[in-house]
Amino acid sequence: SFRKSQLIAFNNVAAGHDGVLSDPSGELVIKPCRQSEIDFYDSTSAHPDIMAHIPTFFGRITLGADTNAAHAAGALVLPSETDPEPSVIHGVPGTMVVENAWAPSNGGRIHTDSAVVLENVAAGFKKPNILDVKLGARLWADDAPMAKRVKLDKDAEETTSKSLGLRIAGMKTYQGALSNGEENVMPDGYRFYDRMYGRSFSAETVSQGFEEYFQLAKGVKAKGIIRKVIRRFLEDLRAMESVIGKEESRMYSASLLFVYEGDQQALQDAFATERDIIASLDRNVSDGDSTNGNGVINDDDPIKGNDTDAHVNVDDRDNEEEGEEAEEIKFPAIQSLKLIDFAHAEWTPGHGPDENLLHGIRNTIKILTGLTGLTG
Ligand code: ADP
Ligand code: MN
Repeated sequence: SFRKSQLIAFNNVAAGHDGVLSDPSGELVIKPCRQSEIDFYDSTSAHPDIMAHIPTFFGRITLGADTNAAHAAGALVLPSETDPEPSVIHGVPGTMVVENAWAPSNGGRIHTDSAVVLENVAAGFKKPNILDVKLGARLWADDAPMAKRVKLDKDAEETTSKSLGLRIAGMKTYQGALSNGEENVMPDGYRFYDRMYGRSFSAETVSQGFEEYFQLAKGVKAKGIIRKVIRRFLEDLRAMESVIGKEESRMYSASLLFVYEGDQQALQDAFATERDIIASLDRNVSDGDSTNGNGVINDDDPIKGNDTDAHVNVDDRDNEEEGEEAEEIKFPAIQSLKLIDFAHAEWTPGHGPDENLLHGIRNTIKILTGLTGLTG
């Protein structure tokens, strides 16, 4: 729960418009959005297979004076007195986009009082390294006006969007405390790559952007551990590909949001802690005490690939239903991949799977597979 007056600007963004907010705990992201995005999140409960691949949706709130919708979201406790709007909403530069006249937003947040409350995918990481990959060669939905179609087709043509169905929309990587002062490195040790960065690549060079995200060229990270991280992303991507391949949907301008632990020591510790947890669960199971094991690890085959570590997916929603006495076991954050940005997403029964999206997901798989060769 949070008070709307406590919402703060969310600075762990890799791309997109200004105006994304967070709650004081940092567990939630509050994204001002159009009704279409709220509708899409609402509709996902009827498509359970997609849930593991999108941020957990906690409901919608209205950021204006009317708190009724926020109360209706249930998970949120709001004060009964009139709560001031978060000042950051007022401070958004370049508020724009009126109903019928489309104009490029240039990064300004759409003027809206409605927001979705989502799981913060970057929560739980010490230094999240964040990458936003915009999917699709076609970036506009059927309802887009002609001027917008022309602009976005040009954007696609000039970037890898057209050829590969993906482009790096933005990223943010931790360079270490000592890199403060290096080019483009913020005082917090992060380097930020804006939308122009991803636009500089061709189909032939775009994997360099992913190399940069995984800090392979720089040799910052121990390569073995990064290979494990990339392999997990590959598993996540293949699982996502399979779900999108079975659903009938159209998601224009959606993104893959990659997050992995950017603090080298924390990443190593996370793998070690995970190994310990799994070892202790295995012990409990072989002791005949299966209560901890059941319903906690939601993975048929936790050990995949050649790595000695196991990949475990924990699904809290399953735990709540199944395990009455199951203790909550908290696995350390290593990596997370989610599909985000559903302003132009809908279910389209009878129209077959979203090949526009799948093309980008498959090329991302190819690029990451190529990178695992560099880490060997
Ligand atoms: P926009 O319509 O402005 O592109 P997005 O949904 O793509 O909005 O969000 C913009 C940025 O905010 C993303 O690039 C990502 O870095 C961050 N973001 C969005 N949703 C989440 C989330 N649930 N958890 C963490 N970060 C998020
Ligand atoms: Mn986006």
